[in-house]
Amino acid sequence: MRNNCYDLVVIGSGPAGQKGAIAAAKLGKRVAIVDRTEMLGGVCVHNGTIPSKTLREAILYLTGYRQRAFYGDDYVVQEQIGIHDLTRRVQSVVDKEAGIVRKQLRRNHIDLVPGTAQFIDPRTIAVEGTLETRILLAEHTLIACGTRPARHAEVPFDGVRILSPDQLCSLAEMPKSMIVVGAGVIGLEYASMLAALGVEVTITDQRQRVLDFVDTEIAEALCYHLRRIGAAFRMGEQISKICLEDNNRVTAYLTSGKRISAASLLYAVGRQANTDTLNMESAGLEADERGKLAVDESYRTQVSHIFAAGDVIGFPSLASTSMEQGRLAVAAMFGAAAHLQDSLLPYGIYTIPEISMVGRTEQTLTQAKIPYEVGVARYEELAKGQMVGDDLGMLKLLFDPTTLKILGVHAIGENAAEIVHVGQAVMALDGTMEYFRDTVFNYPTFAEAYKVAAHNGLNRL
Ligand SMILES: Cc1cc2nc3c(=O)[nH]c(=O)nc-3n(C[C@H](O)[C@H](O)[C@H](O)COP(=O)(O)OP(=O)(O)OC[C@H]3O[C@@H](n4cnc5c(N)ncnc54)[C@H](O)[C@@H]3O)c2cc1C
Repeated sequence: MRNNCYDLVVIGSGPAGQKGAIAAAKLGKRVAIVDRTEMLGGVCVHNGTIPSKTLREAILYLTGYRQRAFYGDDYVVQEQIGIHDLTRRVQSVVDKEAGIVRKQLRRNHIDLVPGTAQFIDPRTIAVEGTLETRILLAEHTLIACGTRPARHAEVPFDGVRILSPDQLCSLAEMPKSMIVVGAGVIGLEYASMLAALGVEVTITDQRQRVLDFVDTEIAEALCYHLRRIGAAFRMGEQISKICLEDNNRVTAYLTSGKRISAASLLYAVGRQANTDTLNMESAGLEADERGKLAVDESYRTQVSHIFAAGDVIGFPSLASTSMEQGRLAVAAMFGAAAHLQDSLLPYGIYTIPEISMVGRTEQTLTQAKIPYEVGVARYEELAKGQMVGDDLGMLKLLFDPTTLKILGVHAIGENAAEIVHVGQAVMALDGTMEYFRDTVFNYPTFAEAYKVAAHNGLNRL
């Protein structure tokens, strides 16, 4: 007879669920984690972070993209790049990552319950698996059920010509042209990968500018680069209708009267939380119209023993933050100590080129009437930038002209998502621009950009 009583039942094995489950196991709690077997690791491992970033690496390698500054715009590592060349690498990484998740859960003696969970009452959860339905009794529950692409009824998705982001890797062949609807992070990441592959990409969004939370200069540099590799933008446009035409092309009709036509369309607008699978009313829970759950600062829902973390609670909806939320929720649940430096959350945007940031932007500082100065290092001034052929990259530091404390770090180019953490650490430790000026950096590195930017900024004072 199996013991079905748990201190914690976690619903969803993505970053929030996994890290929450492990944190509870480390506190000596009896833990079960529920997910469908083929989804172990969550959207992060199967449809989101890991496959998209691996796809990007495969594209950058096979197109010889990083080498073109030296060997010419027509340089390629492989003449014909088929979907299989790309998905082989993706599948291999996804399998390994899912294996790592499984091992970690096992090592921590967490019961993996395969299936889909739903509440019967606030402390009872039924898990419907392929062979049986199990009933789990939960002292506490962590809902980490994540999201899926929002399906708008008026968009005739067919998985071949009109796709959601989850369907991109299962295409049989690469289309010659694609309309990307949605210039958010996911839309732009895929648009830049497709453009690097030589697909004719048109990006459209009702917003006037891309990535409005990113520093304007960095966002403009990204758009400049995307145009340089052939992408077109139709910003500030609303779509009235999307049609699959008789000639097998897709047309997006815009309310401004324009039409965009292409071989395919990627609809990357919004995500819907999976709470509709949970029978939440039985637990006394209610979600908003996007399925998201409201939580307090401890990640507790309106039902005191039920917590929620990860994409299901909304912004910032990143794997990086979801992991921490899972740990913090469990710490709060069992009264353990934990802390998150909330004001210093980094953002990594894996467009081509890559973007990363931490702290304030010029826009938010100006709005808040906070005086600042800017120090910039362009990759073309760095030996490392020259060596790898990145002539567009830059690091930009925003700092207080009086105290010299760092207010924001913004990077675009090779390794941007890595080097931003140097600035993040200095900010967290209350360091100043003088630290960068007076520190020896390995040479040649991209990190050396901090020293160059510090000199540039301090010279302006
Ligand atoms: C294309 C794309 C690219 C991304 N790139 C990045 C990136 O570069 N960096 C980054 O930090 N983030 C990135 N993200 C975001 C990141 O993937 C998510 O923030 C992260 O996966 C959210 O983790 P989570 O724990 O909330 O759950 P998820 O990873 O969403 O997993 C939720 C799990 O819950 C399971 N589940 C749902 N309902 C039930 C149920 N009723 N019973 C049992 N199980 C259930 C699902 O099967 C799923 O496995 C990307 C997302 C996408 C879509």
